[in-house]
Amino acid sequence: MKALVAVKRVVDYNVKVRVKSDGTGVDISNVKMSMNPFDEIAIEEAVRLKEKGVVTEIIAVSCGVAQCAETLRTAMAIGADRSILVETTADLQPLAVAKLLKALVDKEQPGLVILGKQAIDDDCNQTGQMLAALGDWPQATFASKVEIVDGKLQATREVDGGSEILSLSLPAIITTDLRLNEPRYVTLPNIMKAKKKQMDIVKPEDLGVDVAPRIKTLKVVEPPVRSAGIKVADVAALVDKLKNEAKVI
Ligand code: AMP
Repeated sequence: MKALVAVKRVVDYNVKVRVKSDGTGVDISNVKMSMNPFDEIAIEEAVRLKEKGVVTEIIAVSCGVAQCAETLRTAMAIGADRSILVETTADLQPLAVAKLLKALVDKEQPGLVILGKQAIDDDCNQTGQMLAALGDWPQATFASKVEIVDGKLQATREVDGGSEILSLSLPAIITTDLRLNEPRYVTLPNIMKAKKKQMDIVKPEDLGVDVAPRIKTLKVVEPPVRSAGIKVADVAALVDKLKNEAKVI
């Protein structure tokens, strides 16, 4: 069974982003970019399924600018067998990515597609669900455990107050929760090996997908600055302030 894994190049999670002065978005020039953390988990899970003999080939896919090739090299250093870069400078929204992935799914016919539950740049949490809808495929979002039992995919999901276990027929879509696994470190020999692995480059037009944005961002603003706290002399003063100033008691 082939597994197709979507990996997005995003601003590194350690970077504190700044809003552009014209309010059109955040400034990503000269900031460190990395693989979306949930997508590292997605690749790691595919590699583990391959090590268990469930998956036979892992294809990593990234959509975006030419530098997404670096993200794909990392995915192949973790263990993906080959990769596909859908190269475009367009501003890609989740629906466009879902359509691109759908076109690749139709071509590659994977038994399993694994995505991150959300990209840490747009925090959309939409792409996996949209892909499932486009293909009319079963999906388990926010999976914290994945197993193949009697030819079905069993996924554990955390829900309020406990866990839920779903059984899905294949082909299916999984989106990864933080607790699914801890991705392995990328070793130097594997980085060297990844350089020789196959990377195909296609354009959205080659896949017949119109990636034009459907949603317009009106404005991006910094969160309000928190005002400084104060120290009160004693409990009586605190109670007085809660009662008469904050009016919460
Ligand atoms: P989102 O819906 O934007 O929060 O993204 C959810 C997941 O969809 C990510 O964790 C990735 O697995 C996948 N994804 C989103 N955008 C891209 C992209 N440009 N290239 C590859 N995968 C993507």
